[in-house]
Amino acid sequence: MTDIIIHGGSVITMERDDGTGIINNGAVAIKGDKIVAVGETADIMRDYKAERYIDATGKVVMPGFIDAHMHSDMALMKGLAQDSNNWMQSCVWPYTEVITTDEVKNGSMVFLMEALRAGTTTFCDYHEYVYDIVENYKALGVRACLAQAIQALAPNASDIPIGELYPLENKYEDVGYQKNLKLINEYHMYKDGLITGMLGPMAPDRVTKEMMLEVNETSKKYNIGMHMHLSCGTREINQMEKRYGRRSIPLLDDMGLINERMIGVHLSVATDEELEHFAKKGGAMVLCSGSEAIIDGNVPPAFEFSKSSSRLALGSDQTAGGNTSNMFNEMKFTAILNKCKFGDPTVFPAWKVLRMATIDGARAMGLGDMVGSLKPGKKADMIIVDFQKPTLTPLLFDPIRNIVPNLVYAANGSEVETSIINGEIVMENREFTRVNEKELIDAANASARALAARTKDKMVKIKNDLYMMMQADRI
Ligand SMILES: [Zn+2]
Repeated sequence: MTDIIIHGGSVITMERDDGTGIINNGAVAIKGDKIVAVGETADIMRDYKAERYIDATGKVVMPGFIDAHMHSDMALMKGLAQDSNNWMQSCVWPYTEVITTDEVKNGSMVFLMEALRAGTTTFCDYHEYVYDIVENYKALGVRACLAQAIQALAPNASDIPIGELYPLENKYEDVGYQKNLKLINEYHMYKDGLITGMLGPMAPDRVTKEMMLEVNETSKKYNIGMHMHLSCGTREINQMEKRYGRRSIPLLDDMGLINERMIGVHLSVATDEELEHFAKKGGAMVLCSGSEAIIDGNVPPAFEFSKSSSRLALGSDQTAGGNTSNMFNEMKFTAILNKCKFGDPTVFPAWKVLRMATIDGARAMGLGDMVGSLKPGKKADMIIVDFQKPTLTPLLFDPIRNIVPNLVYAANGSEVETSIINGEIVMENREFTRVNEKELIDAANASARALAARTKDKMVKIKNDLYMMMQADRI
């Protein structure tokens, strides 16, 4: 007897290497936290019995999304840092300097709920408060792959004139590193992998060389990833050249950090040569198309990277400038922006970006044996998408199927009806089964307003500067 059988839907397995793999009238059987069978509805219904049956006729059953890079602790700054040419120092740091842990927790929760509603089942969160918000993941019942950020920058970094070398101090990075170790020791492989850990050096310009070497040794010892913003923009490269006289990737390569445990986020300003070298040495790339486009006006070189490696994942990044944690957005932006970049509509077809959001993303994060596709033995993480909505109509099977292009180019996330993580239904018919959404939204709004009140003087000055610069009252 199994626990749940979902039947009668189109099942996207993501088990076909050169595409997606679809069973037109398929079914999935779940027992405990695992998938026990995937196949034709007639076969599964004949061979298995379940406590609960879910009819997915007219719907699509598929693996939940892997959001490979997110900063849920910045959620209270949503909508405060776009349309600026210095989004981080001017628009984010004044808030992060004074935010409290409780405010971070309340903001993170709504960011996670937004993502869960849009089909994300694995949350790769990375920032300074990750250890403090582990309870949020546990409360929602989602899969999390977590890195505590390690950085040597002083807390008053927003006072440093733009363009000057930031001072790096060991005492700050050591606090983050110890917290990262605590996170790994307490939670890595929690509930057989519902939570896993990574190391989180913030960026090569924001930790010392000694710390980068230490992180590499620790990642080898635990066999876990090093999740790091890398070659993100000219600010990072300028800092690296001023401090070491080297660009980021060549310096890290000399130090032995470019290896199969390195997860490089953005790689926006990596040269073609650096990118190829990074990919061939086994590094994984995380692409945050929406966030990068909005905060930097940039399309990261993911298509170039994909010529050397499939270890390519998508991430929603931060809401301060990216404004959403919706992975449908990331798939759509990734396909469209890259087609525009190359003036070629064949670049990054829908099936390819769907792989990045599921199986390729899972493999890039070191979770490929556990999640990312629907296969017996894997963890039961999946979503049911309702194709009986105007956005996803018509649903065609023959002679050509339109399911995958419509998932990428037409869906907006509101069609995700049910979400199952680790065998448990955590959202059903768009209702969360474990948390009260309204109460959590009220708490986040109250925290955001309290934070805004505390930063008022500083932000009024910045608002005036931005107004002068942009000649438009958008704020
Ligand atoms: Zn980031």
